[in-house]
Amino acid sequence: MQSPVVPRIPLLVPELPTLEALTPYLRRIDQRRWYSNFGPLVSEFEARIAASFRQPGQLQSSYAVTVGNATAGIELALRALNLPRDSLVLVPALTFVATATAVLSAGLTPVVADVDSEQWLLTPEIALDASERLPLRAVIPVATFGCAQDAAAWTRFHAATGLPVIIDAAAAFGNQLDPGPTCAVFSLHATKPLAAGEGGVVVTHDAAFAATVRQLSNFGIDLSGAHGVPVGSTTLVGTNAKMSEYHAAVGLASLDAWPHTSQLRRDCFERYFVVIESACGSQLQWQAMHCSAIRSVCCVLLSCQMQRDRAETELKLRGIATRRWYLPLIHEHPAFQRLQHLPAPCAQDIGRRALGIPFHLSLDQDAMTEIAGTIAVALTTA
Ligand SMILES: *Cc1c(COP(=O)(O)O)cnc(C)c1O
Repeated sequence: MQSPVVPRIPLLVPELPTLEALTPYLRRIDQRRWYSNFGPLVSEFEARIAASFRQPGQLQSSYAVTVGNATAGIELALRALNLPRDSLVLVPALTFVATATAVLSAGLTPVVADVDSEQWLLTPEIALDASERLPLRAVIPVATFGCAQDAAAWTRFHAATGLPVIIDAAAAFGNQLDPGPTCAVFSLHATKPLAAGEGGVVVTHDAAFAATVRQLSNFGIDLSGAHGVPVGSTTLVGTNAKMSEYHAAVGLASLDAWPHTSQLRRDCFERYFVVIESACGSQLQWQAMHCSAIRSVCCVLLSCQMQRDRAETELKLRGIATRRWYLPLIHEHPAFQRLQHLPAPCAQDIGRRALGIPFHLSLDQDAMTEIAGTIAVALTTA
């Protein structure tokens, strides 16, 4: 049997805490013998996440609810809205399949919209236009490749339309600093900037919303005794999406390292950008993102589909991994082909020209130079 070809330069190299960093947290689990169901490590992790959303001068409190993964977090946030079955929920064409999966799992109907050509985001303008054509009941703007959504603009959108806004900020921890009018959902998957291996966290300014998501994550069992029913009654139809103490241990150790790892990611991307720009010049286009954004992946736009395909082939020949991140577009996946979709010319254009190239903290200067040089060759061999 042939072994699969392992690329010489991988696309991603997850950065998770070492055994040494984990040990103090694992000892605490041994001592307490509390392994799941809102244990002390989960509570501490949630408190630290919530505190990280406290902005100077901001009056609103933030609440963080851990979940098993971001996909479950989006589904439960939708369920917490208590919308009628098959309600229309706007999602972008350019996103990970989980955005649409969560909508369908919540018994709702995704409608696919375009993204803007600069930041590659489903913007409030796009959603406003869609809401005038269709009876939408909610919107899920995605923080595409970690690019923050404008929370203030979404709050204005919410005030104008009354529509709830669940920001899929799966890859945007550290960038999406405000959860917006309803909530933001972050992933703690191994490949995201803040990792617990698997996990997610729903962040919101709304205490009651947070409590409902928490209850839904524990089968819908009401532990508050606040609704005139005996404690332990099931008052909502939820699921099991709780985060274990072991995952919280990894998340806490990742948070300890976060000031360091997030800065390493910024610095690494900055060096990479300079190397690629100097080799490829203005022939490449980049997603417009805040200069201090923390990246988990790197995706560039070639000038046309032929050039993208050529760069992809050249990189592969040299053992350099690539990925067409978030492609095909949502409504082009076989499972989602029957979804209603609005015209998406920007997403289609990005889809033809985008290429994900390696990005991780083990990329040294030589690897960066080789990747940049290979793309440059593909650009010149017209
Ligand atoms: C990674 C990702 C998800 C899924 O997160 P999980 O924690 O793996 O469920 C959802 N949406 C987007 C945009 C993502 O990048």
